[in-house]
Amino acid sequence: MTPDSPLSITYSPAYTLVPTYECFNRCTYCNFRVDPGQDDWLTLTQAEQLLQAIRSQGVIEILILSGEVHPRSARRSAWLERIYALGELALQFGFLPHTNVGPLQYQEMARLRQVNVSMGLMLEQMTPALLKTVHRAAPSKDPAWRLQQLQWAGELRIPFTTGLLLGIGETAADWVETLETIAQVHQQWGHIQEVILQPHSPGTTQSMQGEGFPIAQLVQVVTIARQILPPEITLQIPPNLIPSASQLLDCLTAGARDLGGIGPKDEVNPNYPHPHDAALAYTLQQGGWQLCPRLPIYPQYDAWLPVSLQTAVHQWRDRLPR
Ligand code: SF4
Repeated sequence: MTPDSPLSITYSPAYTLVPTYECFNRCTYCNFRVDPGQDDWLTLTQAEQLLQAIRSQGVIEILILSGEVHPRSARRSAWLERIYALGELALQFGFLPHTNVGPLQYQEMARLRQVNVSMGLMLEQMTPALLKTVHRAAPSKDPAWRLQQLQWAGELRIPFTTGLLLGIGETAADWVETLETIAQVHQQWGHIQEVILQPHSPGTTQSMQGEGFPIAQLVQVVTIARQILPPEITLQIPPNLIPSASQLLDCLTAGARDLGGIGPKDEVNPNYPHPHDAALAYTLQQGGWQLCPRLPIYPQYDAWLPVSLQTAVHQWRDRLPR
């Protein structure tokens, strides 16, 4: 069965490199960040050792996921260059990099485009109301600024992943507004390859108290998203945040078709390990679905890439099951 067969559910065999956990934002639901200056950045030598160790483990995507250095910090350019160098290194090892490091300046985005087959940024929610609650100490979560990123990604022809974070104080009307916004920006540029529907799941280091997103409602969000977004945008759900097989299968029936990057650790949700892909394949079979690996770039965007990246992508595409 191929990734574009109607019964296939895709996932990206992935490994995450974290340039730094330091972040100048303080989202109250975060289980990732440490304070600026409290973390040694990942060196290229360390990254090389990590990539060497996973060379023959079936990994395709290297997700470069970072906390944010303030845009006006003197260390911002060193941070960006480290991220660029990690992408370059991953390519040298034969992997396909996908970078998600928070909002970027236009020129920063253009630079990272040279070493990434796709990039991503969660829009989360468009409502500015969250700037008074979970995002009151997180300037990067200004929805207008994040929407600007989606616009620039389209202008730069970067295949892009975005998504909604659910259960952070938004309403059902906010889901609709955010999904409609994504549909509009995609209509202009055609660059949104997938939308993640991510239920906030409480972790042990966040400051926000209370329950996470009620997973029973996820099928409702999938249904709404499938109605609002154009069919060429794939809906992604994270299997490690969906506790029961029946809820996962219900979301697939409602239109989700991708399970995202599966690797040794979910850095954003460290309390929720990813299921092993064999176990996931078995669960899917119970619903008549088949798990298929995919690349971090969808085929319709291959021609958007710089030529050297196209060559790397085509080599991987030739190796995927047809
Ligand atoms: S969720 Fe992201 S932006 Fe917010 S504090 Fe954590 S690492 Fe920083």
